[in-house]
Order: sequence, then C-alpha cells, then structure tokens
Amino acid sequence: MFSYRHAFHAGSHADILKHIVLIQLIRYLQEKEGALTIIDTHAGAGIYSLSDGFAAVSKEAEGGIFRLSRYLHNNQQTEITDSISEYMAAITAENPSEELAFYPGSPFIIAKMLRPQDRLKLFELHPKEIDLLRHNVQQLPQNKQIDLYHADSFSRLKGLVPPPSRRGLVLIDPSYEDKQDYRYLESTLEEALSRFATGCYAIWYPILSRRESAALPDRLQKIAAAHKRSWLQAELRVESSPGERRLQASGMFVLNPPWTLEGKLKEALPALVKVLGHHSGAEFVLKSVEA
Ligand code: SAM
Repeated sequence: MFSYRHAFHAGSHADILKHIVLIQLIRYLQEKEGALTIIDTHAGAGIYSLSDGFAAVSKEAEGGIFRLSRYLHNNQQTEITDSISEYMAAITAENPSEELAFYPGSPFIIAKMLRPQDRLKLFELHPKEIDLLRHNVQQLPQNKQIDLYHADSFSRLKGLVPPPSRRGLVLIDPSYEDKQDYRYLESTLEEALSRFATGCYAIWYPILSRRESAALPDRLQKIAAAHKRSWLQAELRVESSPGERRLQASGMFVLNPPWTLEGKLKEALPALVKVLGHHSGAEFVLKSVEA
C-alpha cells in the first residue's frame, strides 16, 4: 500500500496539468476577500528535489517541467498563455538559480498563494511522506496557517466540510495505487457534496486502460449531475504508444468550476500539447456542462 512515492512523478506532464488548474482555481477564488479554506486530501512531501533521489531515477520531469522550461527559454519571443506563465512563476520561485533543482508539490504551490485570512489543510497517510511534509512545511513562512493530518483523507474529509467561511477548494489527488481508491474517491465526493454542495472540488485522475480508470470520468459526471453541479473536464495526452508503461495521459475534473477556467484552458491546453506532446498521438480534451 505504501509503495507510491510522488517524488518519482514530480514535475511530470500530469503534475503540470494539475498544478496549472490548481493555480487558476485559487486565483479565481481569491478574487473575493472572504477567507478561503483549501483542503489537499493527498498532499505528498510538499517539495521535491529534481536533481537527485527518486525524480532523478524516474526522469519523468524530463518530459514535463524540463521540457516546458527549455521550450520557454528557447522561444522567449513566443507569447505564452497567462496560466502557463503563472504556473512557471510558481516553479521558478522555488529555484533561485536558473537551473531547475526543485519542484513544488501542491502543498507548496497552495501555501505560497495563501492570503492572511486563508487556511490550508493537508492530509498525508504515508509515514515517510508525512515526516518529509512536516519538515518541509515548517520552513514555510505560512506554516501557522497550515494544519497537517497524518490520516486517511477519504474517511476524514467529511469532518472538514463545509469550512466555517463556506468558501472552500478541495484538491483530491489520490495515487490510485490501490484500485479501491476509485471507489473511495466516489463515496468521499458524494458525502462531501451532500454537506458542502457549493465547494469547488478538483479531482486529478490518470488515463489508463484499467477498467476503473476508464470508467471514472463518466462516473464523476454522473455524480455532478445527481447533485445538480456544473463541471469541467480537462485531459492532456502527451503520447499514444500502446504497450508503453509510462503514464501517457491524465485529467482534471472540476466540480463547480469558476466561469473563467474554461477560457484559460482553451488557451493553455493546445500550447501544452504542442510543447509536451510526442508524435501525433498528443491531444487534449476540454468539456464542460452547466448545471
Ligand atoms: N497532491 C500532490 C501534489 O500535487 O504535489 C501529490 C500527491 S500523490 C499523487 C498522492 C499522495 O497521497 C501520496 O503521497 C500518498 O502517500 C498519499 N495517500 C494515499 N492514500 C491516502 C489517503 N487515503 N489519505 C491521505 N493520503 C493518502
């Protein structure tokens, strides 16, 4: 159960999609002054080294953040979309020298965006990851605004919604290491929506041939429809090589998306396909339904 370590995947194309969407959600929700509570149900270690350790072994960042950063460096005259620039600014903020040595995970990306009135709640179940996360979060100036839970977020999320301010964003980013994660994700989401229907929920998912994975977007759409919620689905495929074991595509499903998100992704996704795509199999999907 504890074989998944996000450091292997830090800075991959899937992280890029997830973190671009995450930043846009927070920016929109912070347009209002009211306090915002952000819950990251699957936090990971918070920040990762790209130059040694697991990331250096897997080299997933090569096809992700390194490729994007190299492209931007070599094409400085090319106009890049706002959401990609804002994402790159969050990554370079963790890298004082020009070389990319660190990749911030969702806890760091969110923490750096917190205003004094906002709160961040982080769940992490892995005993080694929670220790790393605790250590990393302690270094953040925002650490007093952050609560850490060494707990199973699938069973604990319901206790935290709705947040006192009734303004909340929930990022649900399981490892899907265990196929039960698909089932737990659905029941957790159903329960959270029945308590806090107006919250914004962002769910990351891998696109794999396994049955549970292929069925997930449809099931999420059905949950949104049953709760009369608007939704948006954004997928990025960087290659289409049957039989290849590395992750080739992933998606973000957002319930109660801000109206601005679709426009931002309409610009960003074709650019990501162009920069991160290999061969002709690269493509994106962008769908949304208003409640
Ligand atoms: N959200 C992180 C980011 O974007 O940087 C990456 C998180 S990683 C995909 C998933 C994490 O969830 C892993 O660190 C794993 O140990 C943790 N995890 C797995 N099951 C969990 C559960 N039931 N509750 C809380 N954390 C869990």
